[in-house]
Amino acid sequence: PHIIFLSQSVLSGKKHLCGVRLCHEIAHAWFGLAIGACDWTEEWISEGFATYLEDVFWENAQKLSEEAAKEQQQLKSLLRWRRLQDELQNSEEELQVLRPNKQSTGEVSDSGATIVKHGLNPGKIFMQVHYLKGYFLLHYLENRVGQKPFLKFFRLFVERFHGQLILSQDFLHMFMEHFSELKSRGLSMEAIYQNWLDVAGIPKPLLDGTLKWTENRLVHEVQDEVVKWVEFNKNNRKRTRTCKRKRSCKDVVTFKEDAAASEVLKILP
Ligand SMILES: [Zn+2]
Repeated sequence: PHIIFLSQSVLSGKKHLCGVRLCHEIAHAWFGLAIGACDWTEEWISEGFATYLEDVFWENAQKLSEEAAKEQQQLKSLLRWRRLQDELQNSEEELQVLRPNKQSTGEVSDSGATIVKHGLNPGKIFMQVHYLKGYFLLHYLENRVGQKPFLKFFRLFVERFHGQLILSQDFLHMFMEHFSELKSRGLSMEAIYQNWLDVAGIPKPLLDGTLKWTENRLVHEVQDEVVKWVEFNKNNRKRTRTCKRKRSCKDVVTFKEDAAASEVLKILP
């Protein structure tokens, strides 16, 4: 629904990482611009949705098969899960809450002013917890109803709230109304608040569903690739040391540290 201006340099070559970033920014045309957060402390309404939709847009742009899309999505979920765990361990608890104002969210004072909680806290600016927890919440809801019906619901939601500022409850209320059968299956807005929006730390439902990502073929492929390069680096360093002793070889380029590789290994199962 909006025009986005792109520098030519962004579009040259096969910059796949850039492609995903573009998908994220395009998603903001709907969530962030066409529909915004009424209370900016609930920034997941913009960033969680854009993070969730960047995968959907990317799959469509790349014309991935259903299986390939699922594999990529699971690999990304695993990486995001690891990042979320790291960030939750290394950030203040009160910054980790998606709806910090809870029931009084969106309230305007007598003077007409609203306060963005933690708005000036530099720790908040650099954290991705709201992107990631928001993404996982949407993923969780999608799993309850299936991707196609969920995206169809997104369209209805955008039509209904286009041009408006919303609160988390606007989205959840319409979601629960649209998929009314979920109530009988034990899902309620209260449970979503308690598990996902109003608390710090890892959302409880997320703890149950993480194991399946580690069985993914792509995850093993990446893991094998990292192990290969770690081994290559070790052998290369041994060779360099031997060369130095003999003083007969030309320079051999090595990684300065294994730290980067071991970081990658750490995030994989
Ligand atoms: Zn964003």
